[in-house]
Amino acid sequence: MSRNMDNYNWGSAKKRYEWKAEYSSSGVAPRDMALEKELFGEENHTHTGLNFDKYASIPVKVKGDNPPPGFERFEETNLHPCMKENIALARYSIPTPVQRNSIAIVTAGRDLMACAQTGSGKTAAFLIPTCSALFSQAMNLIARPNGPHDARHFKCRPLVLIMAPTRELCVQIFDESRRFCYRSMLRPCAVYGGAGVQGQIREIEKGCDILVATPGRLVDLIDRGKIDLSNLRYLVLDEADRMLDMGFEGAIREIVERKGMNKDRVTLMYSATFPKEIRGLARDFLKPNYLFLKVGRIGGTTTDITQRVMWVEEQDKRQKLRELLMTQPACRTLIFVDTKRSADSLDQFLYQANFPATSIHGDRSQMEREDALLAFKAGTSPILVATAVVARGIDVKNVMHVVNYDMTNSIDEYIHRIGRTARVGNAGLATSFFNNNNSPVGRDLTKLLIECKQQVPEFLARYRTNDMRFRDDEDDDY
Ligand code: AMP
Repeated sequence: MSRNMDNYNWGSAKKRYEWKAEYSSSGVAPRDMALEKELFGEENHTHTGLNFDKYASIPVKVKGDNPPPGFERFEETNLHPCMKENIALARYSIPTPVQRNSIAIVTAGRDLMACAQTGSGKTAAFLIPTCSALFSQAMNLIARPNGPHDARHFKCRPLVLIMAPTRELCVQIFDESRRFCYRSMLRPCAVYGGAGVQGQIREIEKGCDILVATPGRLVDLIDRGKIDLSNLRYLVLDEADRMLDMGFEGAIREIVERKGMNKDRVTLMYSATFPKEIRGLARDFLKPNYLFLKVGRIGGTTTDITQRVMWVEEQDKRQKLRELLMTQPACRTLIFVDTKRSADSLDQFLYQANFPATSIHGDRSQMEREDALLAFKAGTSPILVATAVVARGIDVKNVMHVVNYDMTNSIDEYIHRIGRTARVGNAGLATSFFNNNNSPVGRDLTKLLIECKQQVPEFLARYRTNDMRFRDDEDDDY
């Protein structure tokens, strides 16, 4: 299913081609109360938690030459007045640390590699400064077809390209960009595989200034002559370490180096984890004077998550899960498994045991994936069994419990999975089933529990050594 919603209420088709007149000379459209309710209504609002204030005590480092100073309050910044109003409508009163610094750095036109915890507002950290800088120039920069007949030959020339690893994350970033582009001339679009390409082409033919994309579909649309990257002002890689690991690196390199992308652009990368080798690779895409922003430890997590690790043998997992679900108060619970097959069979088991569960994985159709996520968000199926497709970036309000039914063998993957709970200063619980199959991650898991001042169960004692600190390797280079 393609997303065909606008950040501006176009009304008739005729109006679409006379749209400039609807904006005042400032380039800002009048308020539209119905659309405002849709974009900023209570159901789209994430309440910040009691621990939001703790952000102030997280150490922040910016490395590189002449970094611009961060700021304390959104009002102090010279963001476009319309963006400030949109921030207020989104009810963001205080910027998170990654926003404080990222907004200042992007506004100063510098390239950036940023590392900050899950759920700490990275999406707004890139959408706010990029979109805001373009608001006042939009009238001159953006391209639209000259009428319905021109649309078929129209090549969209986005000003901002945001690439993300999964369709679900693309849709989420697209929804967020609609909020921040409200009343502006900028039109966001999302293109991703699994959904009908024709519907997405029809959408970008209406104009596409902020493009959120997965790499495969993007290459397809560039090759069909529908997207041209020569006008790009900002390139953003969200979940950048994932975008540059083996699965995606080739496609990213092709898009950045061989598809006519504007070289005179700002490049921005964000993630909660950033292994050193990937940071080395990332430098290929950044200007030499880029800045490196680090909030807390690279690959660290928030102390707002209570992490619990239980010894559970493979054959006892179902029974243990059933006990957990029976004894916990009803709450949104996300259960991670390793394979698509286990997702199907665990979903079936829970369904037969009368739990309100659904599941999501890569073999499901796009419609089924969106339906499952919607049912989870709406609370009609408050238990979601998932593979890694929703481990990164997905922001669902009030996920109170993440269960690692199958423990990960990579600590970075663990950080992303448990980061689906305890967002923007809220508290959350993560329970992981551990047995002999998971020894490869035992030491890093034990270190993380110690770092986050969590209880270390007896069976992890064998992984303890004298030095249980994570070495923060950012000092070697940046
Ligand atoms: P993200 O880490 O970008 O997925 O954001 C996590 C959640 O925090 C989202 O629901 C955002 O809408 C929300 N959020 C981001 N920045 C702020 C802020 N400064 N104040 C309040 N909520 C925020």
